[in-house]
Amino acid sequence: MPYSQPQSVLVLGGSRGIGAAIVRRFASDGARVTFTYASSAAPALELAEQTGSTALQLDSADRQALTSAIEGLGAIDVVVVNAGVFVGGDPLELDADAVDRLFTINVNAPYHAAVSAARQMPDGGRIILIGSTNADRVPMPGVAAYSASKAALTGMVKGLARDFGPRGITVNLVQPGPTDTDMNPADGPLNDLMHSFMAIKRHARSEEVAGMVAWLSGSEARLVTGAALTLDGGFAA
Ligand code: NDP
Repeated sequence: MPYSQPQSVLVLGGSRGIGAAIVRRFASDGARVTFTYASSAAPALELAEQTGSTALQLDSADRQALTSAIEGLGAIDVVVVNAGVFVGGDPLELDADAVDRLFTINVNAPYHAAVSAARQMPDGGRIILIGSTNADRVPMPGVAAYSASKAALTGMVKGLARDFGPRGITVNLVQPGPTDTDMNPADGPLNDLMHSFMAIKRHARSEEVAGMVAWLSGSEARLVTGAALTLDGGFAA
């Protein structure tokens, strides 16, 4: 049973923010955790030392490197694809290469990582993608590419849940709303606007998102699959 036994957990994009909280949560619950980062070596190495986890420098945009690294890890009980980037602004002005890279990291990488991990996942394993409430509600301009990339994950988890369900592997999406990280700091300039869309008007803490991921990894959630679980203070309500 995942999470109730010593297990191997892979967190893609674990050096900062929500991913770092997920690494801390799994490590404190006794899992053996490997996490990746793209460029933040110092925080990654510090987190690895603090938690006894293993940090791997790996750009999720590099499919070959991503799938090879996953193959090299052997059995993986839980994979969490958290690595994601935000590119926002007037679509008429946005750099097309940056938009393509966003789709590579936010959509292609979760797919390839999930499939690679499933190849070496025991029955009953867990695949968890980190999406966004912007998949369901886009109440402001400038976020079309990002929102589209996160909306793609809702179809992805439904499809992969069908593919891997016969093995008892669950595939789910966690959709945070505004969460206090480097990507979306709780004291940023758009906060009043973001909070105006929410029933409970505050940023989430990364640890709250990590708690939902931990629950999905646990034995109580073994029948939850193909689902999008939203933690957004009612942003999309
Ligand atoms: P941060 O920008 O604070 O951290 C992003 C993490 O992902 C870092 O560890 C970063 O590594 C890693 N990462 C980014 N690109 C790559 C890459 N190409 N390869 C490997 N790792 C990469 O983001 P958040 O913690 O805020 O967001 C985490 C996830 O949650 C994202 O998918 C985001 O879209 C989603 N989300 C966030 C919300 C928010 O309000 N914060 C709201 C809704 C969803 P490095 O440190 O090396 O750069």
